[in-house]
Amino acid sequence: MSNVPGQPEVVIVGGGVIGLSIAWRVAEDGCRVTIIDPAPGRGATWAAAGMLAPVTEAHYGEEALARLTLHAAGLWPAFNADLEAAAGQGAGYLRSGTIVVGADHSDRLALDDIRAYQTSLGLAVTPLSRRESRELEPALSPSSHGGAYVPGDHRVDNRLLVAALVAACRAHQVTFVTDRVVAVDRGRTGAVSGVALETGSALAAPAMVMASGWDLASVQGIPAGALPPVRPVKGMTLRLRAGGRAPRLSHTVRGLVHGVPCYLVPRNDGSLVVGATSEERGADRTVEAGAVYTLLRDSRSLVPGIDEYELVECATGLRPGTPDNAPVVGWSPVPGLALAVGHYRNGILLAPVTAAAVADLLAGRPLPDVVAPFGPERFPTATSSDLSAGVAIR
Ligand SMILES: Cc1cc2nc3c(=O)[nH]c(=O)nc-3n(C[C@H](O)[C@H](O)[C@H](O)COP(=O)(O)OP(=O)(O)OC[C@H]3O[C@@H](n4cnc5c(N)ncnc54)[C@H](O)[C@@H]3O)c2cc1C
Repeated sequence: MSNVPGQPEVVIVGGGVIGLSIAWRVAEDGCRVTIIDPAPGRGATWAAAGMLAPVTEAHYGEEALARLTLHAAGLWPAFNADLEAAAGQGAGYLRSGTIVVGADHSDRLALDDIRAYQTSLGLAVTPLSRRESRELEPALSPSSHGGAYVPGDHRVDNRLLVAALVAACRAHQVTFVTDRVVAVDRGRTGAVSGVALETGSALAAPAMVMASGWDLASVQGIPAGALPPVRPVKGMTLRLRAGGRAPRLSHTVRGLVHGVPCYLVPRNDGSLVVGATSEERGADRTVEAGAVYTLLRDSRSLVPGIDEYELVECATGLRPGTPDNAPVVGWSPVPGLALAVGHYRNGILLAPVTAAAVADLLAGRPLPDVVAPFGPERFPTATSSDLSAGVAIR
């Protein structure tokens, strides 16, 4: 569909996987969409590994989040097919499952505990002996301790995904503004009316979606009480290119190495993403030698053949973390301002469900039940009493 005068207008602040997915879906719904971002796709989205892992990411006490991530995983096949059709290019989506292994006996016991919890949630996890796991993935170390096969945890190439989302947005006439929003303007009613940009210009914004990842507080003009608590959680991944003799992986391998999680995610071209650190270091993006060493040491203990790979990149990103590790999707107390932030360690997986939910919000449709628990009102700081609720734009 092409944009025509009279279509509702939406400004999206932030063009990571969340902002881009929303922009595409909302433009498809018939809105005129502008994305503002100084470097679309280069935030946490760029550093991510691209695991779509509702099962191995299910943690104790996060059952509502697990329902959301499972729902998102169920949306991925159609999301991917629609995206390929809209963009004319693929995103490297693969449904080849995940193998979980322990480096030593106590890692194996810890993984057995987690498997019992996952099974209690009704998730499909098949225990594997060392021999069985090496039959599925011969590159695993002979000294690794078998763990489990998780058929429902898949993967996508997050960087191909960014390219496909940008192409899909362009196909739907989404406008990209390469700039940073420094302030939100609000009219006499308190509703959003526009944004001020770092380069000095301004844009009208009758409706706005904040999809800026962890970075909410640096934008002026939104009352502090209207913003949920989102913090940066530093993470590093390594990109490894396969040399001629390097053993290839056909599944994602997730391991516990002396109590520390580690993963290796293969790409279609045989390269690998190894990750990831998780560090409470504020907005620091430094590549520290110790973190690179730890990731290589731990991943090598699971797959010794990574010695044959070339180390081509160390990428750091800032996960948008919230106090309950779950995203914030819904109207803010500022009229006209929707939030889609705080996707923490699952933003790639959650993109289809968040994009659909924000399209529902903007169109005045009710949110799906599975998304409703994740509104900003669950945080007291985001429910300032002098602000009224947001409104649909049509
Ligand atoms: C090391 C690592 C590994 C990960 N692995 C996975 C994984 O395997 N699977 C998974 O599902 N998730 C993973 N994640 C999490 C996932 O990457 C994030 O949840 C997701 O990228 C969040 O997307 P986002 O669009 O909200 O944020 P970002 O990708 O950070 O995008 C936010 C964008 O907003 C822009 N922005 C910020 N402020 C402004 C402003 N004032 N004006 C204009 N633009 C602004 C930024 O430039 C940026 O492009 C990983 C994260 C890391 C760091």
